[in-house]
Amino acid sequence: MKALPEKPAVQPNGLELKFNMRSNIVKIINQCMELFPCEAEICYDDFMSEHTTFNVGGPADCRICPQGENFPSFSSSLIRMARNEGIPVFILGGGANIVVSDKGIRGIVLDTCAWKGAAVNDNTVSFHSGTSMDEAVEFAANQGLGGLEFLAGMPGSIGGAVYMNARCYGSEIADVLAWTQIIDFSAVEPQEKRVTADKTSFGYKHSPFQGKDNLIISATFSLKAVDLNEIKSTIEKNRRDRQEKGHYRFPCAGSAFKNNHEFGKPTGQIIDELGLKGFQIGGAQIAPFHGNIVINTGSAASADIRALMDEVSAKVKTATGFTLEPEILFVGQE
Ligand SMILES: Cc1cc2nc3c(=O)[nH]c(=O)nc-3n(C[C@H](O)[C@H](O)[C@H](O)COP(=O)(O)OP(=O)(O)OC[C@H]3O[C@@H](n4cnc5c(N)ncnc54)[C@H](O)[C@@H]3O)c2cc1C
Repeated sequence: MKALPEKPAVQPNGLELKFNMRSNIVKIINQCMELFPCEAEICYDDFMSEHTTFNVGGPADCRICPQGENFPSFSSSLIRMARNEGIPVFILGGGANIVVSDKGIRGIVLDTCAWKGAAVNDNTVSFHSGTSMDEAVEFAANQGLGGLEFLAGMPGSIGGAVYMNARCYGSEIADVLAWTQIIDFSAVEPQEKRVTADKTSFGYKHSPFQGKDNLIISATFSLKAVDLNEIKSTIEKNRRDRQEKGHYRFPCAGSAFKNNHEFGKPTGQIIDELGLKGFQIGGAQIAPFHGNIVINTGSAASADIRALMDEVSAKVKTATGFTLEPEILFVGQE
């Protein structure tokens, strides 16, 4: 006898999917709280424009910002449980290198910004990953330890700086990093590991943590005893330089495109020479004062930033043959 065709299963609609995701997120957060109690700010449908230096980005289904000594175990168990439920997790530092899409981020944003702390041991200093770069620079300076001054005035967290191998004034994180404490989620059970820094595994805005399933918990730097006045004056000089270059005048995420030695000149100069300073799409503009900074003039959508960067890349390609590579990371739902 011919089998009757099966009745098609009723597919949940968008609202039902959202409701299911929300109740799963609530469930796993409650379970993690029972296992590893901690204070945490928990916001649902939270606009990422409030948590990024570009001030753009749609809502995250859930942003959670845990604090206190249980941060590593709480976060580890949250990420593991979320993975098991098929809920994506995005790790947020200071939001200074990302453009979040207008549709926002599905799943959980684990905000590390309250996981702050510092400890010194001889000439090494360790920071929890949510410590801001400026806080880290000040802490090291107050111990009379030099080496982190190049980070002065750079927005973002230590975790984000290690992940991005942040660089400036001829120095980069890999020059001073001794080791990083991470939680590795690539195995079935999360494993906490110390990763000794190997400079050869870092590159231009590249670290060995990119493309891996890791949470950076802390970073330890090998610094040098230097005269306090000398450190303080370098810090002040670097902060002033950023101020004068207009870094804080408008919401942005620093350099939009990477430099490339093969271009023979800085990317900003190439863009400037093509007369593109001030070029605007929607609320996104090539800064009139810097060819390699895209600014949010006030009303930019994430899509404006992307369109502007695509258009500038195309113009540079046509005029010079060079392919520009974004330094900014585009994240969130397409
Ligand atoms: C005005 C301005 C000037 C800037 N100047 C410079 C500059 O001179 N040089 C430079 O290199 N950059 C610069 N930047 C970019 C930015 O400051 C750095 O890239 C910084 O390192 C980003 O850190 P963040 O914490 O904000 O990272 P986010 O933007 O929050 O995240 C960046 C990436 O790191 C990942 N991440 C963050 N924390 C962790 C963690 N704990 N564990 C695992 N992954 C993590 C995120 O998932 C994301 O993929 C500038 C930005 C601005 C706004």
